[in-house]
Parts: sequence; C-alpha cells; structure tokens
Amino acid sequence: MTVNTLEKPGRRHGGWVIEDAQNEENPFAAMTARLDRAAAALDLDPGVLRMLRQPEKQVTVSIPVQIDNGEIEVFTGHRVLHNTARGPGKGGIRYDTDVTLDEVSALAAWMTWKCAVVDVPFGGAKGGVRCDPFKLSAGELERLTRRYTSAIIELLGPDSDVPAPDVNTNERTMAWIMDTYSMHVGHTVPAVVTGKPLALGGSLGRREATGRGCMVVTRQALEHLNLSVQGARVAVQGFGKVGSVAAQQLARAGCRIVAIGDRTGAIHNDRGIDVDAAAAWVRLNGTLEGFNKGDRISNEELLTLAVDVLVPAALENVITAKNAAHVRAKVICEGANGPTTAAADSILEERGIFVIPDIVANAGGVTVSYFEWVQNRSGYAWTERMVNDRLDEIMVRSFHDVLALSRGHQVSLRTAAYMLAVRRVAAVHELRGVYA
Ligand code: NAD
Repeated sequence: MTVNTLEKPGRRHGGWVIEDAQNEENPFAAMTARLDRAAAALDLDPGVLRMLRQPEKQVTVSIPVQIDNGEIEVFTGHRVLHNTARGPGKGGIRYDTDVTLDEVSALAAWMTWKCAVVDVPFGGAKGGVRCDPFKLSAGELERLTRRYTSAIIELLGPDSDVPAPDVNTNERTMAWIMDTYSMHVGHTVPAVVTGKPLALGGSLGRREATGRGCMVVTRQALEHLNLSVQGARVAVQGFGKVGSVAAQQLARAGCRIVAIGDRTGAIHNDRGIDVDAAAAWVRLNGTLEGFNKGDRISNEELLTLAVDVLVPAALENVITAKNAAHVRAKVICEGANGPTTAAADSILEERGIFVIPDIVANAGGVTVSYFEWVQNRSGYAWTERMVNDRLDEIMVRSFHDVLALSRGHQVSLRTAAYMLAVRRVAAVHELRGVYA
C-alpha cells in the first residue's frame, strides 16, 4: 500500500512552500514536510531519510460486527508501525468517522518523533477504526474492539506494539483489548496496552499525564518569555482527555481559562470559566452543550481570541494557511497531534508566535504510558507522586533540550524538536545497520 507525500508544487510563503489546500491538510504530507526540513538542517544521510519517510508496516483490516438489530456491518481499521528501531511500537487507537490510512500513518510517525524527543525506548505506531462511535452501543463498541484486536493480533505484544487510548477511545477500550489479547495467548498480559483501568495494572497519573505535560511546558514557555503564569489568559479547543485536564491543570497553576470548546461549539468568558464545573458537566452530559457559563462562540472564533496561550487539543489541521494570520495568542501549546499545518508554521513563525510543537507539548501521555509499561513489567506500582515528579522532570528537560537546539541553530522549536528526534532515531539506525 502506498502513502501520499508532498509532491505537488505550491506557492511560496516566507521561504516555505504552501501546498494547495487539499494537500495542506494531508497529515502525512505535513509530517514529511517537517521531517525533510529537519533532515536538511541535520545533513542527514539520504538513505536513512528514505527509511524514515516510509512506515515500516501498514495493516488494513475489515471488521465485521453484528450490530444490535442482528445485521452485520463491516468497518475498516488500520494499524501502522512507523518505526521500531528504538523499541516496541507505541501509539493510540482512535475511533472516528474521518480516520484514513494517511492520517494513521502520520500519527504513527509523530509517535516515533515524540518518543525520541522525550527519550523513552519506544518506536512509533498508531491505529484507527473508521466509525461513528457515538452511534454505537456499548455492546457494539465492545464487539468492534475485540474483532479489531483479533484482526491485528500478530502485531501486538509488550515487545512489539503497545496501543493506548486516543480520540474517542478510553480505559474501557484498553481493558477489552488487553482481555482479547490475553485470551489469545492464554495468560494475562497487562503490558500489551497502556491507559488501562487502575485495577488492570493502569498507572496512577496516566489519565492526567498529557494535560499535565501541557501545563508543565506552557509554564516553561511563559517563564522563558518573561510572561506571568498568574493570570495568563488561556483558550482551550477540545475538552476531552487532553483538553479538559490541560485546562484544569493550567487553572490550578494560576492561569485564567477564558475559552473552552468541543465538537458542539465553544464558550467565551473573559472573567474566567470554572473548568472543574465544566468537566463535571461533561462527565454528566457527554459534551459542553448546555454549559452556558459564557458567550457561545464558534471553534474558529476560539482560535483567534486575543489570549496569552492557545491550546488546540482536539484534532488535526485547525490552524492552517487560511487562519494563521488571525491567531492572536502569544504561545500555542499543541495538545492535539498535528493541529497546525506545515504551511501555517512559517506564518506563525514570522508573526513571532511561540509554538510548543505537538511532539513536545503532548508527550506527557506517552511518557506515563512508558512508566505504566515499566510498572507492569516489573510488577511494582509507583505512587502518584513518583509518576508526576518523573513526568515533570522529563517534560522540563525535553522542553529545554529543544529550546537550546532551536537557539543554537536559529530554527523554530518545531524544527528543533524534529532535529532532536530524527538525530536520535538515525543514530540507532546507523548503529544497527540494515539487515539483509
Ligand atoms: P478525546 O476523544 O478524549 O477528546 C477530543 C475532544 O475534541 C472532545 O472534547 C471533542 O468534543 C473535541 N472535538 C472533536 N471534534 C472537534 C471539532 N471539530 N472542533 C472542536 N472540538 C472537537 O480525545 P483526546 O484523547 O483528548 O485527544 C485529543 C487530541 O490529543 C488528539 O489529537 C490526540 O491524538 C491527541 N493526544 C492525545 C493523547 C492522550 O493521552 N489521550 C496524548 C497525546 C496526544
């Protein structure tokens, strides 16, 4: 199966090529554009670059599921291993109507770079099933998850490929995957997934890890820019596992959350939003709809509010060549994977907006997934304090590693993060050589 890459010519903007709108939003093209940029800055061996531009393995499966009325529906699922040179594939599984092989491949590659930036011994993987999970009952979701797991079972294992939750999947999904895998191999294998319920070997602090990591790097960025954390005005797009916790953690750090939004729209309140109340509302009602503690605005308006910090924490391609010139935040903390297109990068850069790239900003999740895997394999559970202290240390260190590289090479934080990651992955390839 082939993967689309940036091939079409585009018009130039500030030394960077803006691809046509359709290509701009191809996430794999966005990933490859950043990889190529970092490879050029590193003077990377062209053979190694060729290897890194392609996923190692892409599997597409059809998933027949008996739905509640007795009929059989067939869904399409993917699992992609982008690179496993540094360790087992690691990456979430998402259920969404827009899942494509290109998207899953890009997300798998981002996991390779993310694990390398924070220096955890995993490679990059991702999975997705094209479905509308909001239209499926709990029983249908369970059957879909178990059949998908059994269809990709040869890939999975604590030493080969370890899934986690992503968009529209959660601890319960991980419990079904862990059980299905364990039934296949004949014994219980907690380390085959992370983001599990605590009772099945999940880690304390995992649920909050990605949002907490966003808070830690945002604080570092504000301090670096001599901006006050206390009272910093923050807008958060996406109020799920990442966005809601990022908002709560930033509020606890002293920031004022002035806007939040989810797939039903957004709320703006300059006096500040009680995000704990919003999270309680979502736990009860499923979405922010009806949480009328401010003015209703659109998600597009949320992105262009005059705030200190913008946290896009929903889906890809929300900051594009079309709206990047209107973004007024001083700092963007990319809670989501790929929220900014490659064409928007240079516009934000020219405007002096400090972008903490996704592969750094949201790496808290995979870092604590690594801690969960280590705990499962050693059979010893850490305290929440241990988890959080070690997470904070890794996030702070990674942020400053990337910042130092960006200043040393006079490149954006994103290019610096890719340079750091690509250098680490390439070094392993060079030592291992090519098996013939
Ligand atoms: P989630 O399913 O828990 O939440 C997604 C949120 O985005 C929901 O509030 C949903 O309503 C909202 N949303 C969906 N479509 C939207 C739209 N068009 N406009 C505005 N909001 C919309 O998912 P999540 O786990 O929080 O993941 C969010 C992002 O963070 C994804 O890009 C994911 O890959 C990334 N990420 C997640 C983790 C993790 O640990 N869960 C780790 C790293 C990165």
